[in-house]
Amino acid sequence: MSELSASEYIKEQNALEDEARELMPQSPTHCTYVDGALRQPVFACLDCGEIGVCYSCSIQCHANCDLVELFTKRGFTCDCGTERQLKKKDKSEFWCQLRQNSSRDIPSSSNTYGQNFKGRFCDCHKRYDHESDSTMIQCALGLNCNEDWYHCSCILETREDTTREANTSEPIDQLPKDFPSLESFDAFLCWKCVSRFSSIFQDLLAHTLSQKLIAHIVPHSNTLESAPSSSNAVKAEESSKKRRAETDDDLPFSIMFRPDYKDVLVMIKDDLEESSKLYVFLQDIAPFLLDEDSVYEPSEDSDDATSTFELGTQALSSSVDRSIAVAGIQAMDNIKQKLSEFLKPFADSGKIVKEEDIRNFFKLQKEEESRDS
Ligand SMILES: [Zn+2]
Ligand SMILES: [Zn+2]
Ligand SMILES: [Zn+2]
Ligand SMILES: [Zn+2]
Ligand SMILES: [Zn+2]
Repeated sequence: MSELSASEYIKEQNALEDEARELMPQSPTHCTYVDGALRQPVFACLDCGEIGVCYSCSIQCHANCDLVELFTKRGFTCDCGTERQLKKKDKSEFWCQLRQNSSRDIPSSSNTYGQNFKGRFCDCHKRYDHESDSTMIQCALGLNCNEDWYHCSCILETREDTTREANTSEPIDQLPKDFPSLESFDAFLCWKCVSRFSSIFQDLLAHTLSQKLIAHIVPHSNTLESAPSSSNAVKAEESSKKRRAETDDDLPFSIMFRPDYKDVLVMIKDDLEESSKLYVFLQDIAPFLLDEDSVYEPSEDSDDATSTFELGTQALSSSVDRSIAVAGIQAMDNIKQKLSEFLKPFADSGKIVKEEDIRNFFKLQKEEESRDS
């Protein structure tokens, strides 16, 4: 693409706008700090004090920061513009642009800050790498690991990553060969969280309904590599006796629940004495395992929302990733007017707009911006 008319350019912008909207369907207008602790999408800001912020704040207040997407966290209160935030957005009088607070608000005392908020994940404590990372799975219990995300190979502790690098023909999303298929389970409970409640889980495994509940028990140990077994994952269909044997020794193990596990947990709970430890666990410590997921969703954009005209020079390329969409939406108000003015003479005269003209326009804007700051 070397040149295009203003109308073609606008048409192209509209297509990009649709693409950006598809990536970010919710309008970023409400900070959830006022709603308190929610299960909601959380973003870690590494620049403002390793705080977690809500979806809207990730766009309106931290778009130029080093952000890490953490997906959903349970019981989290947005920390944008609270005393946990260490620095303010440049040139702003407000700590949170959406709440418009000129002094910092009191942070929630119940937020738990694990390694994910430093941009680290899994037992290997690595940063997430979009390019090379294989499938990662979040712990559904999370009471010990703070709902951490794990590489499948780290769950098994087989360290297959190194061999994979050597063999580049292997697709990166391929699971380790002993790993259960992702369709066969719906919830993963990491070995760290299971170990913390080991006597509770022994009771759960011994329950008559455990066959209906548990899809896999996955020992976390490379000592098993020497075992004459074709699979590290012990299938639930195998006798519960064997399972007891596997879990009675001190090997830590992760548990995977079957797809309809919530209903089964409710049945198990209904069957228990209220004084039993397992009942207390299901009722008070991990009630979220039984509840239907309710994740806070920011409201959807309405059709009359402003156009994302100014995705900038990068918008001229065919792929729009999230960070560009964020930058585009954030820059929208500042630059839309200017671009329309710039394009008007071209549109009026039917003159061709060259890609170079657009690039120059954005270059000029950048120069103005850096002059201002
Ligand atoms: Zn917020
Ligand atoms: Zn920030
Ligand atoms: Zn904010
Ligand atoms: Zn890992
Ligand atoms: Zn866990």
